[in-house]
Amino acid sequence: MMVETRRRNDKNKVIITAALAGAYPTKDMNPAVPITPKELAEDAIECYEAGAAVVHIHVRDDEGKGTMDYAKFEETVNSIRDAKCPVVINLTTSGEPGADSAKRMAPFIGLRPELASFDAGSMNWGRNNVFLNEPAFLEELGLKMQECGVKPELEVFDMGMLYDSIYYIKKGIIKAPAHFQICLGAPGGMEATTENLLFCVNHLPEDCTWSTFGIGKGALEITYAGIALGGGIRVGMEDNIYYSYGVLAKSNAQFVERTARLVREFNKTPATPDEAREILGLNKC
Ligand code: ZN
Repeated sequence: MMVETRRRNDKNKVIITAALAGAYPTKDMNPAVPITPKELAEDAIECYEAGAAVVHIHVRDDEGKGTMDYAKFEETVNSIRDAKCPVVINLTTSGEPGADSAKRMAPFIGLRPELASFDAGSMNWGRNNVFLNEPAFLEELGLKMQECGVKPELEVFDMGMLYDSIYYIKKGIIKAPAHFQICLGAPGGMEATTENLLFCVNHLPEDCTWSTFGIGKGALEITYAGIALGGGIRVGMEDNIYYSYGVLAKSNAQFVERTARLVREFNKTPATPDEAREILGLNKC
């Protein structure tokens, strides 16, 4: 049973986020993964046209590796803005393992997207490396985002991160109403199941908005459950290179199109970027 008040999400509008590439999937895994700033910008526009209100952006270096290189972010963001695409831009702060705090924060400081990711804790990622987000970095990050008028998207991969997010809200590092992204199915984090999603949603602070996604085999289950529970939905090749079992996705837009279709079948409507701005309070940061 879900506590009704634990969300400010609009009852009828669903914010679809397209996570275009992340830091890891390569063209060898799926040739449709966008790598260059031009490919990323084209995908962002295509996803907007398919119904995404938000695009979550990582960039790659010339070898295709995840990087926090400012110039690559600048080229990507400027290409989307120059095309007059109104989609809400969300930049990662976790695009390059080992990058220092200045490098991780520079893209949102310089380019002022409306959203940027805030990974609310550390974890063993994929059982082979540490996804490091030290307390001192998180405090610096939260305060710098407030100073820049960039809203944090609180990415929580387990309940510890969810509770630490609430701690940061109480401490004033994060301003309420906060926006959560419930990230399920990452190896090292909580599994992508409806039960886990419901548990997370029931423990969110009352004054917040939220979205969710599943990585890998639980992806579609989380899409359906997230729509049913009133959340926003994130899809895209950062989280899944397969569209269905054994079938590679043709594009990021293909995921967005399916999600928009499911939202409509549920008698809801994909939010436009401006509706997303209103729901998330982006104009008030
Ligand atoms: Zn990301």
